[in-house]
Amino acid sequence: MDQYRELIKSKKRIVVKVGSSSLRHKETGEFDYIKMETLVRELCNIRNQGKDVILVSSGAIAAGRKTVHIPKEEAEKLSVKQACAAVGQARLMMTYERLFSQYGQVAAQILMTKDTIAADLNRHNAHNTFIELLKLGVIPIVNENDTLSTYEIEFGDNDTLSAIVAALVEADLLILLSDIDGLYTDDPRKNPDARFLPLVPKLDENILSMGKKSTGSDVGTGGMDTKLHAAKIATAAGADMIIANSIDMRILHRIMDGRDLGTLFLADRDENFYLKDAVED
Ligand code: GLU
Repeated sequence: MDQYRELIKSKKRIVVKVGSSSLRHKETGEFDYIKMETLVRELCNIRNQGKDVILVSSGAIAAGRKTVHIPKEEAEKLSVKQACAAVGQARLMMTYERLFSQYGQVAAQILMTKDTIAADLNRHNAHNTFIELLKLGVIPIVNENDTLSTYEIEFGDNDTLSAIVAALVEADLLILLSDIDGLYTDDPRKNPDARFLPLVPKLDENILSMGKKSTGSDVGTGGMDTKLHAAKIATAAGADMIIANSIDMRILHRIMDGRDLGTLFLADRDENFYLKDAVED
């Protein structure tokens, strides 16, 4: 086992991000309860090791759309999207709440907009709330406040949001669960010569150029470019970041056991990192 993977075992505060497509059946758009249940069990198991756990979960808009039977084309309108998010976020939390309580854990909901970070007082309060919840042993579940956020105050994607959360709570590890194994030198869906990169010691221009705007999913918003943007924020804030495939959620304990899975971006703390700047980029 390499030295960096060995160090993953000792991480104490972990943010896990899961995308909409990882939580739903592709064919029907309904929740994939087996995946959700496995994810929750894995998170509870990490919590049971005495570590702090935060989940950043997408899926509100998609769940709402499904619940009120809105076809995808109509859900592009802002007010419809926001209405879907209001319905879906409640559904999402109800489902999580039930699953977490099966394992004796308490979940809490935190919905954020850019203003939560940009305004000093809001940021300070949000930080305190997270820390208080973690002290209580609660697992915060975070999403963008899609019902209220419009263009000016939206993060836009949960990859970025999860990195901001990792920075806000001084997490030492961020795990992005996605529909891809990790970072490739090019899009492996299009280029058969694309090489997999298990370790990124430093995010340089060469690595950043490997981001692709495309995403294989029709529900999430994040492609590889948003994941690399997230890596920039998380690593500068002092956290390691791993991109891993959510096809089998049990990958979480394997990662925490130090196994060489996904792409690991090493923390590269920037003394000048300032969280407020990260939302103003
Ligand atoms: N916040 C959105 C939702 O919960 C998803 C954004 C994303 O997947 O990046 O539906």
